[in-house]
Amino acid sequence: MTATTSDIEKAAGVLRAGGLVALPTETVYGLGANAEDPAAVARIFQAKGRPPSHPLIVHIPSAESLDDWVQDVPDTARRLAEHFWPGPLTLVLRRGRRVPLEATGGLETVAVRVPDHPVALALLSTFGGGVTAPSANRFGAVSPTTADHVRTELGDAVDFVLDGGSCAVGVESTIVDATGDTPTILRPGGVTREALEALLGGPLAAPSSSRVRVPGQHPSHYAPRGRVVLVEPDRVIAEAELAQRLGHRVGVLVPASVAHVPVKAHAVVALPASITAYAQGLYGFLRELDQQGCDLIVASLPTEEGLGLAIANRLRRAAGPRTTV
Ligand code: AMP
Ligand code: MG
Repeated sequence: MTATTSDIEKAAGVLRAGGLVALPTETVYGLGANAEDPAAVARIFQAKGRPPSHPLIVHIPSAESLDDWVQDVPDTARRLAEHFWPGPLTLVLRRGRRVPLEATGGLETVAVRVPDHPVALALLSTFGGGVTAPSANRFGAVSPTTADHVRTELGDAVDFVLDGGSCAVGVESTIVDATGDTPTILRPGGVTREALEALLGGPLAAPSSSRVRVPGQHPSHYAPRGRVVLVEPDRVIAEAELAQRLGHRVGVLVPASVAHVPVKAHAVVALPASITAYAQGLYGFLRELDQQGCDLIVASLPTEEGLGLAIANRLRRAAGPRTTV
């Protein structure tokens, strides 16, 4: 059920008392703490099992409040903020004094954004400060896109869960290093590269040219329990059926471009044709296959344009080697 005004007041009280609140955003659910309270921020890392060197995103109520949290904002960054906020775009900028190093993993830069969700915005304005929040899941696992996902995964580690329904975008924000004159995409996400380039009037710099450390770039991240195997779209069904015959409990994400025929696998998800619906459903599909006990998930990459770039990025990481870094 969607959070009421009294839920939001209660959540703001939890934040003021140094507690953790799970909050809905348009991307995924976040695990939030008062950005200015180092002890509360430290609890986020404990709850997630996340290494303390991984910086968090500071959620702020409006583009107008940007200068409260960062310094030396280049003109391009301001244009991006004014155009895309509230929305799934995170800007990495120089850290302002209000942001403790605990929230930035020790970096002199900080990631900030204004979420486009009425519950998140109501919480930010009622609370009156910044809320630092990574995704509300265990480190390395699939991000939550419903309040139930958060409750199942984090249980008592979170003090209060605000329910805002299913997340509309379904994949995390696009992170842009906007510290210099030429912005760089550090992580593809809800705002497409095409939309950024249309606003800026030219191509964006390649990620490798950035000097900023980029966590969330571990080989394995966004991963379900079942091992993810990526093949060409026209091989998905054959690979799935082969693995099933070899004794795996196979889950398969069947691309919309592939003719819908009965597939001999343990669990089958027919992907939606719309890339927006695919992004929205992606993490739910992976969770569903985990719940059905699949030990192997066969999928293919969508065309890497628009939201397809973010989906392909998450699937590649989900398929990445599971060594602990
Ligand atoms: P999560 O969505 O849980 O992965 O957390 C937020 C993500 O924001 C991190 O994983 C980083 O990728 C990114 N991030 C936060 N702060 C910075 C920063 N200062 N520089 C680069 N990336 C950042
Ligand atoms: Mg995350």
